[in-house]
Amino acid sequence: MSGIEGKVVAITGASSGIGEATALLLAERGARVVLGARRPERLAALAARIEEAGGQAAWSRTDVTRRADLSDLVTLACDRYGKLDVLVSNAGVGLISPLDDLRVEDWEEMIDVNVKGVLYGIAAALPVFRAQGFGHFVNTVSTAGLRIVPLQSVYAATKNAVRTLSEGLRQEAGDSLRVTVVSPGFVRTEFAERIDPSVKARIVDKMDAMGLSPDAVARAIAFAIEQPDGVDVGDIVVRPTAQD
Ligand code: NDP
Repeated sequence: MSGIEGKVVAITGASSGIGEATALLLAERGARVVLGARRPERLAALAARIEEAGGQAAWSRTDVTRRADLSDLVTLACDRYGKLDVLVSNAGVGLISPLDDLRVEDWEEMIDVNVKGVLYGIAAALPVFRAQGFGHFVNTVSTAGLRIVPLQSVYAATKNAVRTLSEGLRQEAGDSLRVTVVSPGFVRTEFAERIDPSVKARIVDKMDAMGLSPDAVARAIAFAIEQPDGVDVGDIVVRPTAQD
């Protein structure tokens, strides 16, 4: 099966930014999307918007730090639409700060959401993909993991952990599953909202100056999904031309 039409795509972090843009684009192109995030009112509004435009969407309140929530999201896809073609593990937090600040709770949250959240998605979807004989993992990582800079070391480490486990997964997946990592650069989203004010302005300034629309990342994800079954797009970097 190639293309996007008719595919069932579950997306975590679908309540804003890149996840929301991806849901809208894929639904417009005929995918049935299954939306997960913690803010149900956002998901309900997005699903209604997709349905009003003639698309199909389901949603489930999903906290990716809870393994059962990922199982529920995958089960919703299978119960509602009969299969799961793609899991886009996109939920993420970037609570960047100097290591000297010892914001250990933020470190733990980044590990829980960015790494364990992806692992719980794999735990939920991999048995389904194996039983079906097809399936595609798309994991959102970051250029923060490609060019290591101060303040972002824990965040970058979580993203590179996902890069590493995605490559391992690809090698173990065999010839019937696909694994893609997408590394966005600066994208204008709500990503910076929770960053400590002492650091936030620097990130927001860069986002305002050069940040891409989240649609740019959505198009990259769509490109990976629309390839014929035997074509595995492994690694995509999408960043502003102005980003160093
Ligand atoms: P947003 O803050 O707009 O979106 C983040 C999404 O993650 C939201 O939908 C949020 O939903 C969800 N989320 C956060 N914590 C959890 C959780 N515990 N369980 C479930 N969902 C959660 O930012 P982006 O769209 O920019 O971020 C999407 C991905 O892109 C992230 O993985 C981020 O690291 C990555 N990225 C972003 C870049 C950028 O410049 N914007 C650059 C490189 C990578 P809710 O709060 O409703 O749960």
